[in-house]
Amino acid sequence: MSIFDLAPAYIRAIAPYQPGKPISELAREMGLDASSIVKLASNENPLGISPLARRAVEAVLGELARYPDGNGFELKQALRERYGVASDSIVLGNGSNDVLDLAARAFLTPGDEAIYSQHAFAVYPLAVQAIGARGIEVPARDYGHDLDAMRSAITAKTRLVFIANPNNPTGTMVNASALESFLASVPPSVLVVLDEAYNEYLPRDVAFDSLAWLERYPNLVITRTFSKVYGLAGLRVGYAFASREGADLMNRVRAPFNVNSVALAAAAAALKDTDFVRKSYELNRAGMKQVTTGLAALGLEYIPSYGNFVSFRVLNAADVFQRLLKFGVIVRPIASYGMHYHLRVSIGLESENTRFLESLQQAIA
Ligand SMILES: *Cc1c(COP(=O)(O)O)cnc(C)c1O
Repeated sequence: MSIFDLAPAYIRAIAPYQPGKPISELAREMGLDASSIVKLASNENPLGISPLARRAVEAVLGELARYPDGNGFELKQALRERYGVASDSIVLGNGSNDVLDLAARAFLTPGDEAIYSQHAFAVYPLAVQAIGARGIEVPARDYGHDLDAMRSAITAKTRLVFIANPNNPTGTMVNASALESFLASVPPSVLVVLDEAYNEYLPRDVAFDSLAWLERYPNLVITRTFSKVYGLAGLRVGYAFASREGADLMNRVRAPFNVNSVALAAAAAALKDTDFVRKSYELNRAGMKQVTTGLAALGLEYIPSYGNFVSFRVLNAADVFQRLLKFGVIVRPIASYGMHYHLRVSIGLESENTRFLESLQQAIA
């Protein structure tokens, strides 16, 4: 008997998450200078960490022998001030990935069903599978969530629905009225996890206030992150807003010190750096235009995106990915999302976008 046989079948069936290739790994493999590599593979903020967050990180270093504040008082306070959500309706996580896991652990048992869309964020099936619950993947419509079909997929066994808005890796979004009709139509026995990792990147003309729904829908959980526009992906910090009861349940399954003290301090400071967020937003708007214009000029189709990345169509995606690596440009293959003819590229600095487009032109020649 191998140790493999000791794990339940649903654990053995898990296909591990495939992260973007780290710069250091490509540098090793190709003998490239790390500083010459452009990584546009994980939707990170090309401006780096906010100056206010950096200062907060430096200030907390002397305290690292102490355990963090397990309740994250200051960060919750900062979130409360910013968004008007009570501290006991907030769940902090080691990245929002952690919070998505907490939702699955708090609300699913083996045999329950959880619904998500085809081409949706890979963490949903992973979180569901780790419980031994059944993931129901609903076919996408034009690469986006088909909310009507997702509503129809709800059965007596359904406990959870995941919605990524905007979705990664497709960049698609569902508008406020479609989402609200969906929420109104979902039975109160089903938890709706609305993953808004890219919320701060939503163009002003389509952005809307989902937090207002929390009062009306106690089965709603909204997750957000400091990994994207706030530039703190390496620190791992995210959060959920929920009803008080929902947050309480998720906090019960949370590891006692799941968010470290550096992350807590940096996130609270980053939240106040509105200047940095505005700059990041504007850089992304301009970069999105640059990249999509460039893709179109190369004759490549892309899926219009509301995030800080865009997925474009190439017939030989795996080859193009490899050729780009040789030029020192890392993008993201998304075959594991059922998208065999697409690659995803994150929006970078103007110079990085240019380097990507020039390399791509050669890679597809
Ligand atoms: C990046 C991303 C997250 C955030 O992950 P963290 O764990 O917070 O770094 C969550 N959802 C989606 C859809 C994402 O793309």
